[in-house]
Amino acid sequence: MNYLTDTIAAIASGLTPAGIGVIRISGPEAFRTADRVMRFSGRRSACDADDHTILHGIACDGDGEEIDEALVLIMRAPRSYTGEDVAELQCHGGPFVMKRILDRVLACGARLAEPGEFTKRAFLSGKMDLSQAEGVMELIEAENESARRAALSSLRGDLGSRVSDIRGRLLYETAYLEAALDDPEHISLEGFGERLSGVVSAAEGELSELIRLSEEGRVLTEGIRTVILGRPNAGKSTLLNLFSGRERAIVTSIPGTTRDTLEERIRLGELLLVLTDTAGLREGADEVEGIGIKRAIEAANEADLIIYVVDGTREPCGEDAERLMSFKDRPVILLLNKSDEALAAPADDFAEKLGAEPIIFSAKSGQGKAELEERIKRLFYSGKLAGDKGYIIANARQREALLSCRSSLKKILEAIENGIPEDLWSVDLTDAYTTLGRITGESVNDELINEIFSKFCMGK
Ligand code: GDP
Repeated sequence: MNYLTDTIAAIASGLTPAGIGVIRISGPEAFRTADRVMRFSGRRSACDADDHTILHGIACDGDGEEIDEALVLIMRAPRSYTGEDVAELQCHGGPFVMKRILDRVLACGARLAEPGEFTKRAFLSGKMDLSQAEGVMELIEAENESARRAALSSLRGDLGSRVSDIRGRLLYETAYLEAALDDPEHISLEGFGERLSGVVSAAEGELSELIRLSEEGRVLTEGIRTVILGRPNAGKSTLLNLFSGRERAIVTSIPGTTRDTLEERIRLGELLLVLTDTAGLREGADEVEGIGIKRAIEAANEADLIIYVVDGTREPCGEDAERLMSFKDRPVILLLNKSDEALAAPADDFAEKLGAEPIIFSAKSGQGKAELEERIKRLFYSGKLAGDKGYIIANARQREALLSCRSSLKKILEAIENGIPEDLWSVDLTDAYTTLGRITGESVNDELINEIFSKFCMGK
């Protein structure tokens, strides 16, 4: 198969019944194929039609039988989604009708497009960079308003253009350095270390900002990583079950039953929480439990939000107060659980001893749940968990590239500072810009491109 010069087609609008169905044809034979499939009104033809016009006609089978009435949108290269000639056929959106027309289009010379192939062509023809192409997929998959906005920002090229700008500067310095190393008589490296150091630290600062913004973007699309902490028997598993609405965690009255971490994804309005239930924090625990506790603390340190549960039927304890102190710089919400029973002390006493204002809560009855949700939303929208603006979206691959580039830049700065010879700088410089090229698509191989686009849906 000739991946760049053949003509491809697919149903672009999905296979559920709808008012309109779209069949997209892209490639050098797009208009000729449309002319074979369609009997256009007024004897017009797709091949002769002006760019960005719409033709009306009947899609017919090989023997002339009419299949459906349709409109055909003419988009000539390069002013189309793929950058190639594109004919987009709009018919009635019944799966059967669309399938019949698609069969006819395929019989007239087009090949069935692979998943993501239209977008892949757009990337290969330079219509968009790789991060924008991935933005297309994120936009299609966006499940809420924030994810939609963030995906649109990738699609517009916010990440790509910033990365490409940094990459360009690094590339310039690398080229200069290599030229000077090749031709020391004519190109001087006098003062180059200082200049490079300035360029690299600026780039490092910008990358750190991108990494920070992408963290906020991650919270929006992947969810707020929330860890439930508290001593054994405080009611952590019961809380998780309350949120998830089913018996996910094992609840018993024997302390220490949750030995490892459990994860649950929960939607709160437009926010998504990835909730982790952890082993209870208890000193003197046995070995297996000890590992669980270590994981719990690790999870809490990486979490976006900590929900700390205390048993309100027991006196406020020093261990909880200490633990809460150790998280004082982190977003923590304190729950005074089991308040359906008599509290061991007034809520104010708990607040004073534990150094945080608790929500009067009952994981059993659901009391306080609305207030908890409200607090999480307030933390989120006040930017304490992640700001609601300015974020960019970066998927795991892109984030890894940002981090790896930043560490190459740090190495360069160290090398300059420690007086390491210039020819060794270029290794890390090359690493740095090559890594950034993995985001924009300059330094990705066919295999990775195929893998990325194969995740797309059909017809996109
Ligand atoms: P964990 O060890 O922190 O996960 O605690 P569990 O969720 O396993 O709960 C320990 C015990 O406390 C169980 O017997 C629960 O039924 C009970 N429990 C949990 N939450 C509440 C609550 O809000 N009210 C009451 N009365 N009991 C609760």
